[in-house]
Amino acid sequence: MPIFTGAVFAGNLLRQIVVTDGLFSPRKRLLLYVGCTRTISELPLEASGLACGSASLKWRAMLATMHGSLEEVRRQVEKCRSCSLWQTRTKAVPGEGATGGLMLVGEAPGRDEDLQGRPFVGRAGKLLESFLSAAGLSREGVYITNAVKCRPPGNRRPKSEEIAACRPYLLEEIELVRPLAVLMMGSSAAYALLGKRSVVSLRKKEFTVQGVPARVTFHPAAMLRNPALRSYFMEDLLAILHLMSTKGTQN
Ligand code: SF4
Repeated sequence: MPIFTGAVFAGNLLRQIVVTDGLFSPRKRLLLYVGCTRTISELPLEASGLACGSASLKWRAMLATMHGSLEEVRRQVEKCRSCSLWQTRTKAVPGEGATGGLMLVGEAPGRDEDLQGRPFVGRAGKLLESFLSAAGLSREGVYITNAVKCRPPGNRRPKSEEIAACRPYLLEEIELVRPLAVLMMGSSAAYALLGKRSVVSLRKKEFTVQGVPARVTFHPAAMLRNPALRSYFMEDLLAILHLMSTKGTQN
């Protein structure tokens, strides 16, 4: 059983939980909190309200909001300057949607998304919604995000270093959304989560991303350019839903 001995802060963000058997990332903190049964004796001042098994509501609320919510990820994305794309964006575009179900990862915001600050609201988004509807899903019933959260100028493909800079947000989203399955749409999403770009060779294979079952398919924008890809996308969407239902049954 892990026992709390301290917490490490960077500014006002909780960075690490220190326990007797090692250091844990903030993502694990609530699990640690739930599993903790011993009173803490060596906490820093910031964490002085924490006592295992009897933490104050104030402390619990602080834990939940400091680094562990999608709203916090949104705030971080909106003020992010980790790569040069912040200089040309109108609005940053964090992910949105439902947690605990299917998570869709695209490439990057386009012109409409950049203006509205929401993912997949242009033509590709409309096409995506039609596929979701055909599969019995609604846009509101899934979580939609992108490999990079700011629009590359001229809708160019995001560079590797831009995807790498934005990757922590994507991983944090996966951690917080806790999806049953992840569908990577396009080469940039595959590169962000698998380090590989070839959609054609990655399709029809099952992967695990952050412990979540995942597959790769084409990006909706590619289907706008090449309608022949639509049947492949539907095939992949149904496959990931099957994977998701299998996982749901096992849980
Ligand atoms: S694309 Fe991602 S890493 Fe780059 S500035 Fe936008 S939010 Fe930050």
